Amino acid sequence: MYLYQMNKNDILKKYFGYDCFREGQETVIDSILSGRDVLGIMPTGAGKSICYQVPALMMGGITLVVSPLISLMKDQVSSLNQAGISAAYLNSSLTTGQYYKALQYAREGRYPIIYVAPERLLTDSFLDFALHAEISMVAVDEAHCVSQWGQDFRPSYLKITEFIERLPRRPVVSAFTATATKEVRDDILDILMLQDPYVLTTGFDRKNLFFSVRTPKNKYEAVREYVQEHKEESGIIYCLTRKLVEEVCERLTKDGFLVTRYHAGLSDNERRNNQDDFIYDRCRIMVATNAFGMGIDKSDVRYVIHYNMPKNMESYYQEAGRAGRDGEEARCILLYGSQDVATNQMFIDNNQDNQELDPITRELVQERDRERLKQMTFYCFTHECLREYILRYFGEYGPNYCGNCSNCLSEFQETDVTEEARMIVSCVKACHQRYGVTVILDTLRGAKTAKIQKYSMDENPCYGKCAEVPIYRLRQIFNHLLMENVLKLTNDEYTLVKLTENSEKILDENAAVTMKLAKEQPKKSQAEKKPKKSRFQSGTAGSALSEEDEPLFQRLRTLRLELAREEKVPPYIVFSDKTLVHMCILKPKTKEEMLKVSGVGEHKYGKYGERFLDAINRMN
Ligand code: ADP
Ligand code: ZN
Repeated sequence: MYLYQMNKNDILKKYFGYDCFREGQETVIDSILSGRDVLGIMPTGAGKSICYQVPALMMGGITLVVSPLISLMKDQVSSLNQAGISAAYLNSSLTTGQYYKALQYAREGRYPIIYVAPERLLTDSFLDFALHAEISMVAVDEAHCVSQWGQDFRPSYLKITEFIERLPRRPVVSAFTATATKEVRDDILDILMLQDPYVLTTGFDRKNLFFSVRTPKNKYEAVREYVQEHKEESGIIYCLTRKLVEEVCERLTKDGFLVTRYHAGLSDNERRNNQDDFIYDRCRIMVATNAFGMGIDKSDVRYVIHYNMPKNMESYYQEAGRAGRDGEEARCILLYGSQDVATNQMFIDNNQDNQELDPITRELVQERDRERLKQMTFYCFTHECLREYILRYFGEYGPNYCGNCSNCLSEFQETDVTEEARMIVSCVKACHQRYGVTVILDTLRGAKTAKIQKYSMDENPCYGKCAEVPIYRLRQIFNHLLMENVLKLTNDEYTLVKLTENSEKILDENAAVTMKLAKEQPKKSQAEKKPKKSRFQSGTAGSALSEEDEPLFQRLRTLRLELAREEKVPPYIVFSDKTLVHMCILKPKTKEEMLKVSGVGEHKYGKYGERFLDAINRMN
């Protein structure tokens, strides 16, 4: 099924149901079609797949897509099949019989697009096929997997270059990733040996994600309240430990929610089942450790809650980024608790992954990890725009104000904290910088813990001097002093609070310390308070679903679930949330009108169009 006669816009409309290309897609496609290699660095949800799928249909020959994960391939192939495009995957999930059958069909030229696991590339059976086929493009998905810099290095990705070199004619090579760091980018260019590539970088920002940091007194209550208000939505709750996963999952179940869980301690079988329950919307909530996610392509995850602060910004952005892959509005909420730093610190100290490293390198790695943890902690305490903070961390600059994060939407007050700051510094000084954060703060609060007594801190001149200040406030001020480099923490066996060259200045009589603090009982931000309205922001049209249309939306969603079960595909592969919202807005009555809905191509219309028309007409 090659579409030489069709242009790229017609293909986009007819098969994918979209009216126009997104930023960057068109130039990438044009480069590929002109025979030039491409490196596309685009954030998750930007639409990388279309960049190689559309030209694959126009070039003739076969496009091989190298992809690291079975689940990802399966999803992509289902999506293509749903759109009426014939495609297949070759990986270890197939039986030998199925594998040879697929290769046979591939030889017959039935598939313009074939997804293949990197481990397969240099096997005899696959080479036997590839060396005799017309391979017009090799598209490398998740291309950062070639780089040892990232967290997702896959040795088998190094086979790609050798494979390409063995082909009788060099195909166009295109590579795609969402990872933007320079090291990774250079690695991709070098290792994949891209030739005079067109490099597209559309930036790192995910505008549809709302970022928020909270410090609730009771994390579980905060979560329960949130999921209660968002019952209809799919969401992931990440916890730092398996134990916590079990606990949160159990409590939510007891409280009547449909929840499932995922962590490395479960059997393969259970993990697979639980993952499917989530993907197929049998369970709306997934409670998991960071073992869950790589390769989870579920595009309609509406929120990602971090029950704990993760170990670094890279992990956070990757995990939070699993929300809103469909480009629709989604929320990333981090629940900070003071224990989180200590837990992460412990993980760093006991990290067994680096056993093979020599002691000096291991020490360097640990130091880097501690530094990253510090940056992560600062994220939880910063008063600037959270998006700005993230972008800057990854080397980009934003406009300082995004209007779509909890800081941009909170009211802060410049508050004088000179007195407390001075007390904290004096206390550290008076105990000769020998203790950690908890002891210092407990001393200031006048606590009577065993440690305080053991270290005789109740004799410290600052003992009880901040008894009136709530502990969370004291912590905020303490963190502010860390950020301002007035105090620092050591990275030795014990984390001790030390003075810096700036400490004395604070003790000076004329010094004043002010910091921004959220006004007491800040109003809940709009985006969090009214999920209904903002949830259905239609990205392109900018129009929101009105409340009267809510029942129709629910009706269409139910229909989608029915169809998905019949077809045995995840609901978001039938139609995305965005497409359903668009249907609710346009309320099409005829085929022509239905084809105007974003995401409804001709093939999908043929499969589902009438049933959706029916449902819409019945509501009116
Ligand atoms: P990525 O691989 O970059 O994370 P995908 O290729 O999965 O992103 O695309 C994300 C979503 O955006 C998908 O639902 C896809 O169908 C949709 N999409 C891609 N291109 C367009 C477009 N030009 N117009 C509208 N939606 C698009
Ligand atoms: Zn902001």
